[in-house]
Amino acid sequence: MRVGKIRTVPVMLPDKPYKVLIGRDLFAKLGDIGEAAKHLTGRRVFVVTDKTVGDIYSKKVAEGLDALGAKVLGWTSFEPGERSKTVTTLTRVWDDLVEAGLERSDMVVALGGGVVGDLAGFAAATYLRGIDFVQLPTTLLAMVDSSVGGKTGVDHRKGKNLLGAFHQPKVVIADLDTLKTLPHREVLSGLAEVIKAAILADEKLFELLEQNGPALVKDPAKLATAVEKAVAVKASVVVEDEKESGKRALLNLGHTFGHALETAGGFTGFNHGEAVAVGMIFAARLSKRLDLIGAEAVARIENLIGNWNYPLDLNGIDKSEVLNALKHDKKRADGKIKWVLPTRIGDARWGCEVDDGLVEQLITEMLPG
Ligand code: ADP
Ligand code: ZN
Repeated sequence: MRVGKIRTVPVMLPDKPYKVLIGRDLFAKLGDIGEAAKHLTGRRVFVVTDKTVGDIYSKKVAEGLDALGAKVLGWTSFEPGERSKTVTTLTRVWDDLVEAGLERSDMVVALGGGVVGDLAGFAAATYLRGIDFVQLPTTLLAMVDSSVGGKTGVDHRKGKNLLGAFHQPKVVIADLDTLKTLPHREVLSGLAEVIKAAILADEKLFELLEQNGPALVKDPAKLATAVEKAVAVKASVVVEDEKESGKRALLNLGHTFGHALETAGGFTGFNHGEAVAVGMIFAARLSKRLDLIGAEAVARIENLIGNWNYPLDLNGIDKSEVLNALKHDKKRADGKIKWVLPTRIGDARWGCEVDDGLVEQLITEMLPG
């Protein structure tokens, strides 16, 4: 079997560099990737996945790992979805790793979306004080966002991602063909992070999204380009600020208001990307009020997000719940929310403090109810 074009984005962390490989049908062709997949060759691995992804891809991945010369010590899978991202599931995975007898030189393979990557990554970060792991992301969100950058962890009942560790993968292998089985709404959710990357740092990517609209997802070459560019943005930010002491906060564009919406919707109304899409519009408008961005750029951001058919209707979302959620955020942020505000297409400013009154006024305009 020959492998088509593989795009490689390096994540140049000084002491632990790794690559993100992006291409078609890579899982089936793991054995032919060669040098780039060398971390898996000859290794003993344990695969963690969720039941949905496992049902569709375990056979292909098992064959690929075999062809690579990796020895699979075992598999474990859990119920799909954020509700599994708990200490309870993590404990089960730890048990499975102990049962399978993984040693320091063995590795964990995370096969699935963000939930699997975060949980399996944290299991790897903690097992024997940290063993290697590899990400095989199968959602667009995981490919362009969560599988890159080393944030791993689980949720606590008091909040998402409260327990975790930074643990970078050895390699990330994104097989774009897996997106064919991903429900459209999930694809759209991940696309919001691609739009985010474009607004933050890549005007060319923004133009690509503008020019193609939702049809981009059906065009393999353009989709690959979009994923590659979004990963490159994420990689460059992570390399500059691995542990989020500063600039990495840029990646929160659209997330402050987005998280408040997710919370106000009881995590049922909007999915993550949908909430972030609305949050980016909010950030753009806020930036405009502060005269940090031009009207034309704001219009382009709103049009692009509108063209991708995100559910932008905020009817039924309770304004006081959104305000409460923001207040809660504020407590965590030491009294002051730091906003990420776009300054043009391809650039943004992080750490912006904004007057509460202005924020509330804009919320009232967007959520009249
Ligand atoms: P995210 O990457 O969005 O954080 P999850 O890990 O929760 O999300 O995955 C979202 C949902 O999509 C889960 O139900 C998961 O089982 C499912 N899923 C993940 N990848 C695929 C795929 N390639 N095909 C079909 N379903 C998938
Ligand atoms: Zn996000």
